[in-house]
Amino acid sequence: MAEANKPHVVTTAPPQVEFPCEEWLATRTPQGELVSVEPIPGTWTLIAAEDRRRFADKGMNIKAFFACPRCRQMGIIPEGFKPPTELGDAKLATELHCRKCRFTCRVILKNWDKRRLYCACYQTYDGKKYHTHKEYFHAEYEGEAEKFFWAQHSLLEVANLIGIAPVIGFFLQDNKTDQVLVV
Ligand SMILES: [Zn+2]
Repeated sequence: MAEANKPHVVTTAPPQVEFPCEEWLATRTPQGELVSVEPIPGTWTLIAAEDRRRFADKGMNIKAFFACPRCRQMGIIPEGFKPPTELGDAKLATELHCRKCRFTCRVILKNWDKRRLYCACYQTYDGKKYHTHKEYFHAEYEGEAEKFFWAQHSLLEVANLIGIAPVIGFFLQDNKTDQVLVV
């Protein structure tokens, strides 16, 4: 009978959860400074070089964000983070223990190695003048970046595609020549 009074302990390994790389909606000041981001639960996102520089200026070391699959609580992945990778996916040796909702899992960051941030610079024409736009997204290589771009924009809308290039450096801070893509 003593057996029945023992607490029943179930030990299960935490589930392994894949975090795909997604674009998160960012809110910025007119000066382009990041104000807030909308985390997508269970995903990670790369931070643009310019934002990383701004974080670094404030003493923050941030390369990427990820969000808890259950409650969207945001975590930070610092520069220099070198997890063991397998076919381009990063496997975190440590488990994620969400401080907010207590969710626990082993994290796999999908495409950690392969994906990088690209910037497309393009112009639209409203009948009177040209407007220059910049758009950021992740892709594995330039051809894929171009495919993503044209999946979201039509030839009617885009008057002139100036270029698509990996984001590894800084953009010129001169508004008059903002259409020049520097990588
Ligand atoms: Zn959570």
